[in-house]
Amino acid sequence: MNKVILVLSDALRYDVAKDNMGFLGHLVEKNLASLYKVTGELPSMSRPMYETVHTGVPSSEHGIVANSIVRHSVKPNIFESAARAGRVTAAAAYYWMSELYNRAPYHRVEDKEVDDESLFIQHGRFYTEDEYPDIELIATAGLLVRKYSPDYLLLHPMGMDYHGETYGSDSSEYRNHAIKQDMWLAPFITEWMESGHTILVTGDHGINKDGAHGGTTPEQREVPLFVIQPNGQGRGETGETISQLQIAPTVLKFLEIPIPETMKHPPIPR
Ligand SMILES: [Zn+2]
Repeated sequence: MNKVILVLSDALRYDVAKDNMGFLGHLVEKNLASLYKVTGELPSMSRPMYETVHTGVPSSEHGIVANSIVRHSVKPNIFESAARAGRVTAAAAYYWMSELYNRAPYHRVEDKEVDDESLFIQHGRFYTEDEYPDIELIATAGLLVRKYSPDYLLLHPMGMDYHGETYGSDSSEYRNHAIKQDMWLAPFITEWMESGHTILVTGDHGINKDGAHGGTTPEQREVPLFVIQPNGQGRGETGETISQLQIAPTVLKFLEIPIPETMKHPPIPR
């Protein structure tokens, strides 16, 4: 059965990813991956877009319309669909993911590391500080893959958001962090391709030069989608723009799990 790893890099802008992530760019250049531009949904805020990415419905439908709404998801989502299909789920992610798919509000001790098959995120490792080092989180994801062999793993680093909000998107710190993320991910992407995973790399939203997001400009809403398949077949730079609402059904299609009726947008073609 197919396994999927979704790398949801917080505040990874389309243009900055394309210009600075050289290993991913190499895979695209050699037609070993496909690159799409994603028009992000609105508002270009974190918690609303975490839910949009995982449910495939807009914020006005799923109801997580602001970061301040702290509750469990009430819409069919990737974690729920995978767990109900008897598949293994895992995440190395910010604690808002635990609140959306495991338990809200987050308990700093009891929810931090979970291995519980009754949860939607069965093997969860969560962090609460925005400056939590990406290199550590990526290693945690690498460990989860080797130890539990999850069918669906979410890897959700916060470094782009942290550097973008601290220094603005027009800064060496923000751009250089994209280079670092790409460098840290490269050996794992190779390992995961060899172990038969499909890997998707995208962002929840972009960010502007003021270090802000939430609005409607391309800087704040355009994110990349790199699709890397274990057979090494890609379409290169497709020049196509897709909707962020296509991410959830695309993941489920790769997992070969039925797509809930609530996810009305089509998966991207394989
Ligand atoms: Zn975010």
